[in-house]
Amino acid sequence: MTNIQINDANPEEHRWKGRRYYPISQYFVRRFGRRVGKVSVSIAETCPNRSDADDDRVCIFCDEWGSAAYPLEREKTLSEQIRHNIKHVRRRLKTDKFLVYFQSYTNTLDKVALLKSRFDTALAEEHIAGIVIGTRPDCLPQRLLSLLDQVSQQHYAMVELGAQSLFDDQLEFLRRGHTAQCTVDAVKKLHEHTDADVCLHLMFGLPNETDAHIIETAQQINALEISNVKLHNLHVLANTPLAKLYQEGLFTPVELDEYAEKVILFLRHLSPEIAVQRLAALSSRWDELVAPQWTRQKMPPIEFIENKMRTRGHYQSDLVSSY
Ligand code: SF4
Repeated sequence: MTNIQINDANPEEHRWKGRRYYPISQYFVRRFGRRVGKVSVSIAETCPNRSDADDDRVCIFCDEWGSAAYPLEREKTLSEQIRHNIKHVRRRLKTDKFLVYFQSYTNTLDKVALLKSRFDTALAEEHIAGIVIGTRPDCLPQRLLSLLDQVSQQHYAMVELGAQSLFDDQLEFLRRGHTAQCTVDAVKKLHEHTDADVCLHLMFGLPNETDAHIIETAQQINALEISNVKLHNLHVLANTPLAKLYQEGLFTPVELDEYAEKVILFLRHLSPEIAVQRLAALSSRWDELVAPQWTRQKMPPIEFIENKMRTRGHYQSDLVSSY
């Protein structure tokens, strides 16, 4: 676990170079001395909720691609995907250092020998500084932790856990199939057995979510000492169980203004040492997005949230010392 010390006498002016929260880009610059881009690949082909083809077990929000950024590239080999996708990230971020992000489905289900060969292949590619592994909190067996330990001793490694919520009733609504305690245990196991950074994916905008839920989530995360979080608004994609609820009028996604208030509340209670990968979901496959429409765009929601914080003089962690 890497602790970044924020040493800033005048946080409002100088913390995070004018940003109102600690963006992951700055975390990477501190860690690697330069910008680092994440290159997504689609290698895993399933997850525990999909492997038995029982529709009732699929997470309520998940489309058939299992969160893959480039699902149609699954035909390509891992090296081909890396070499192809790196070009876009290089152009966008103007950097020459990258992490390979195993993004689709659950990337810790296969045999350890196969996982090791995938990680080795990724790390052997030019300009690759480390790997990021997307998985579930209940898919971290000991043999995998040993492999992650080996990898994280020699290279940068991050594990992104789909936590989504730290409340069991919300996890049941989402049909995740694991408990909140399972996420807490997974983070502890990763800290105990590996040097990998840990990121938690979280969703806001769930039914019956209160400010108290959001504040408690931030407090629990601070106690877990993870390195970063990725925030999403619960949104509706076509052909998902959530789309059915939406069509039946049983679920309404939050609009941007309400979502912004939730994110701001969370950030104000979040430790200044925990970086933020993303403030809101982005639905890049527009034809699949049902609602809300503001999830089509990447930058406007981020700017909206940050502008609100700036106008009010709020920033990440400004309420941490109040409890
Ligand atoms: S969100 Fe992850 S665990 Fe849930 S159904 Fe999709 S791929 Fe599987």
